[in-house]
Amino acid sequence: MTVKRIAAALCTAAFCLGAFGTAFAETPEEKVERLRQEAAEAEDRVEECDAAVQTAANERQAYADKVSAIAAQIETQKQLIAAQEDVVNAARKATAEKLLETERTRDLFEDRLVAMYVQHNNSSLATLLGVSSFSEAVRYVENLQRIAQSDTQMLETLRVQSEELAARQKTEEDAFAQLQADEQALEQLGAQYAEALRQADEKYSAEQANLAAAQATATQTEEELEQAEREYAEWAAQNDSDSPEFTDGVFQWPIPGYTTVSSPFGWRTLNGKQDFHRGTDIPAPQGTRIYAAASGVVSFNAHSSYGICVKISHGGGLVTIYAHMTARAESLTPGCTVQAGDLIGYVGNTGNSYGNHLHFEADLNGQPVSVYNYL
Ligand SMILES: [Zn+2]
Repeated sequence: MTVKRIAAALCTAAFCLGAFGTAFAETPEEKVERLRQEAAEAEDRVEECDAAVQTAANERQAYADKVSAIAAQIETQKQLIAAQEDVVNAARKATAEKLLETERTRDLFEDRLVAMYVQHNNSSLATLLGVSSFSEAVRYVENLQRIAQSDTQMLETLRVQSEELAARQKTEEDAFAQLQADEQALEQLGAQYAEALRQADEKYSAEQANLAAAQATATQTEEELEQAEREYAEWAAQNDSDSPEFTDGVFQWPIPGYTTVSSPFGWRTLNGKQDFHRGTDIPAPQGTRIYAAASGVVSFNAHSSYGICVKISHGGGLVTIYAHMTARAESLTPGCTVQAGDLIGYVGNTGNSYGNHLHFEADLNGQPVSVYNYL
């Protein structure tokens, strides 16, 4: 009996009998299907959100890198500006000194010329009278002119030097202004990057929140799915008694190689009391593989005294139970189907158990029967 056949049979029954309230109500199988779909979608959404978080983190890192790069550039620029300020100050000082030198020289020359002129004028009569010849007077005047000419040349040289220094000063000041303007541009760019980084930070936080929400939804959906699978397995097991008789023939022995029975099915004395033993206990080392005795639909729900257990509904109201496992086979989920001989778990000592063993039980319509009826 496959899950589909059970479900199809019950689907029809539900439809005819109105067992689920309305004809359009969701069957347990449909609920499992829907939740499986939702769980897959929720998982996809988690992956999308995870990718978005990664993208946001990368963008954030890119802007953080730009912000630190621009900060380093600004630092370099400030050093250049400081160095250029020294150059400008030196140029200004050189210009001012040259100007001072020019003024002093001019004053000096003027004073000297005035002195010579005055001397010449005062002594001109005496000179003229005393000078032995006209040619001597001419030499004197020529001498005077030569000095004046030399002074004029000197002043012209100083003027040219002053202009050159002023031009150099201007060039250095322009360079200084350019460096400052560049720094301002860098500061603006830095502010833009800082703002972009702030926005990227916000986006990153928002994406992280989205991811957390998606993960919460996925977890919740997964839990709902597990619950629905359990309900479905129970429902399938309960309704299985309506389905045809178990016709798979005989059971396979669930732990090949271990056939000693430590506690048989039926009445026994436990701690001085009469106790009905619902199963057959077969000791085996912890971890010994347990295989399905026959094909059927798996469920997990049982009394806690069974510990970790697996139930398999075989049809016709027949269920086998494998109790006290150390673990179930990883591939098993409630509601899945197994074939005879499929691995379903490992021998253990969980639940009400004293020592590693398999409690192997068969229930027919909820009442325990000896597994040997089917072996
Ligand atoms: Zn037992």
